[in-house]
Amino acid sequence: MESSNQRNFIDKESIFGPDNYKPLPVVLSRAKGVWVWDVDGKKYLDMMSAYSAVSHGHSHPELLKVLHEQSSRLALTSRAFYTDTLGPYLEKITSVSKFDMALPMNSGAEAVETAIKAARRWAYRSKKIENNKAEIIVADGNFHGRTTTIISFSSDANSKDDFGPHTPGFVSVEYGSSKAIEEAINENTAAVLVEPIQGEGGIIVPPENWLPEVREICTKHGVLMILDEIQSGLGRTGKMFAFQHANIQPDGLILGKALGGGFMPVSCFLSSKEVMQWLNPGSHGSTFGGNPLAAAIGKRSLELLEEENLIENSRVLGDFFKNVLNSINSPVIKEVRGRGLWIGVVIDPNYISGKELSKLLLNEGILCKETHETVIRFAPPLVVTKAEIEWAVDVIKTVITRIETNHRS
Ligand SMILES: *Cc1c(COP(=O)(O)O)cnc(C)c1O
Repeated sequence: MESSNQRNFIDKESIFGPDNYKPLPVVLSRAKGVWVWDVDGKKYLDMMSAYSAVSHGHSHPELLKVLHEQSSRLALTSRAFYTDTLGPYLEKITSVSKFDMALPMNSGAEAVETAIKAARRWAYRSKKIENNKAEIIVADGNFHGRTTTIISFSSDANSKDDFGPHTPGFVSVEYGSSKAIEEAINENTAAVLVEPIQGEGGIIVPPENWLPEVREICTKHGVLMILDEIQSGLGRTGKMFAFQHANIQPDGLILGKALGGGFMPVSCFLSSKEVMQWLNPGSHGSTFGGNPLAAAIGKRSLELLEEENLIENSRVLGDFFKNVLNSINSPVIKEVRGRGLWIGVVIDPNYISGKELSKLLLNEGILCKETHETVIRFAPPLVVTKAEIEWAVDVIKTVITRIETNHRS
């Protein structure tokens, strides 16, 4: 399928790097907005957006300007000094999310680690849980990142097998069940840490009343409700944050991915002063966390979501996209689910595997990837237009019809 030019780059990656990823056979070399080109000049619509990290589209001109200006003025100082970018960024992100404070990190996993540490400090020092006894309740099928502590509470065997010993202090319960959470709470429970919609788990949308119930349970038992919105946040579901669909406010919020505007890793953990007060000098940090370039990009990324109506676009076009996918009406498609421009199409494996379907769509100029073998995720940059989605749906429809026909003959 790939040209010999592409083969050369693919071979180099597999010779000089381990097989911890299995990319689709395409070698990308440039991008603009929602479009991406491979090394042979073939054009694709990006329906993957780097797992939602490219919500603003590739090389957004405003962010590119910030990147150029800020990096030529001041890029990195470490937190040993104050800068003229971090304060304004923290002010912006806390006001958008309605939290007292934000602690800046880089990757999503680091921000999850930060949330875990903050919750434990709070549990020992405010809630007075017995030393080393703190527990955090998580959900089956979760994805929170790849560090040794985070994989300790993954339910995916391959993510954790032979990476032990695993970190204790986590209890995993059924996703979407508030009863299971309440039953798991005891005097040592520090926090509940969940995704409002499970992304890597297969775009799993929990029951409508789940988040409000979890909110109530956490308040009732004096347990922190922490949401990982690294993928669901920042407009992806048609609201700035997915928790806003449920009209609640969590006690802690983890952001990442799109916060970096498609340019660099920018993440953070947000919470109240009550929780953050225990993080004193020397207790936590990161050399690159909150660096001037990241702060400038993070601030502008947040502003652009509002200025360019990207959240509204996600809501309106997400509904449109979902409706037209639903109207395809083929036995190949078992279910279409999701919220905003974050859609999972469940396919019947009797017709085709998710991997094979991704390859067929790749051939037709659509970049997407399966999660969990039978779910194809469609998550284009939030700058996508209706015409571009209509084009994509035509392509998807044609490919699905062809699969159906081939299956019959
Ligand atoms: C991607 C993701 C992470 C991990 O982020 P990294 O930047 O890859 O470390 C954590 N939680 C959720 C919900 C994610 O989607």
